[in-house]
Amino acid sequence: MYDVAIIGTGPAGLSAALTLQLHEKSIIWFGSPDMSPKVEKSEKIANYPGVGLISGEELNRRFREHAAQLALTPVDRMVTTIMPAQGHFSLLADNELYESKTLLLTTGVVSANGIPGEAEYLGRGVSYCATCDGFLYKGKTIAVFCGSKRYEHEVAYLAGLAEKVFLFTSYKDSDVTAENIQRVGPIREVKGGMKVKSILLADGTEMPVSALFCLRNAVAPSTLLADIRLDGPHIVVNRQQETNLPGCYAAGDCTGRPYQLTKAVGEGNVAAHAILDYLSEHA
Ligand SMILES: Cc1cc2nc3c(=O)[nH]c(=O)nc-3n(C[C@H](O)[C@H](O)[C@H](O)COP(=O)(O)OP(=O)(O)OC[C@H]3O[C@@H](n4cnc5c(N)ncnc54)[C@H](O)[C@@H]3O)c2cc1C
Repeated sequence: MYDVAIIGTGPAGLSAALTLQLHEKSIIWFGSPDMSPKVEKSEKIANYPGVGLISGEELNRRFREHAAQLALTPVDRMVTTIMPAQGHFSLLADNELYESKTLLLTTGVVSANGIPGEAEYLGRGVSYCATCDGFLYKGKTIAVFCGSKRYEHEVAYLAGLAEKVFLFTSYKDSDVTAENIQRVGPIREVKGGMKVKSILLADGTEMPVSALFCLRNAVAPSTLLADIRLDGPHIVVNRQQETNLPGCYAAGDCTGRPYQLTKAVGEGNVAAHAILDYLSEHA
């Protein structure tokens, strides 16, 4: 059982991970070792104290370097479900179960609420994990929503299993190809009965499919943790970064505006100190 599970390798997650590591807590830290795609995309950052004018690419590189200096290695897995249990949390990431005494959500803000029907059919044809669930659809027709180039190898993996793949990518310059991949327009809805039966496209076309894989950088907080209190897309926290669930904290863009690096880093630090207090009170 870990002391803390941190979800997200952006500036908020890194800030908390550094402090908790310095206090010698056992940490499981989920997210991409490339850190934050948002930071990476920033052309110039001018308001981060002490570093002057810096490109997002360079700042993100320094974040990676700083994590490595403190021997912090993220687990490159997407957490898809969290279950609060008696005094701890169980987390599911790529079909592996992890347990922690406390939880820190630093998942960034998820701009969309997902595809209509996605939450309803999760586990009944909708999946967030190609390597976990792909084999279930061997020889079948499936749909894939791919939100980042980072997941193209998972699209290729699914195309190797399925008979046919209807693929929608939400970004430009996608170069994933296979004979059985058919590009489609935006997916407006996923439909079915007990299980997924079809996807409805924005142009009104309905395609019969057995599954929809949603491959994104983030999962909406309400999908991740059913009882978490939200205000719109944001997680409600107090000044200690506590959520409504005991032992669960949140920091960074996921708690609300302004979406800024220094806010994310500051909140990550506050959350880390609140977690240290919680752990000593519940030792
Ligand atoms: C183009 C652009 C320019 C910007 N310029 C500036 C600027 O000049 N100054 C400034 O202060 N701010 C700027 N920002 C905003 C800044 O980048 C964000 O405020 C900051 O990155 C938020 O940090 P975060 O840690 O909260 O979330 P993020 O940086 O979004 O990181 C969240 C991380 O969590 C991961 N994650 C999410 N869900 C899961 C899951 N279920 N399992 C595993 N990992 C998960 C994501 O993949 C991501 O890596 C800019 C943003 C953009 C997009």
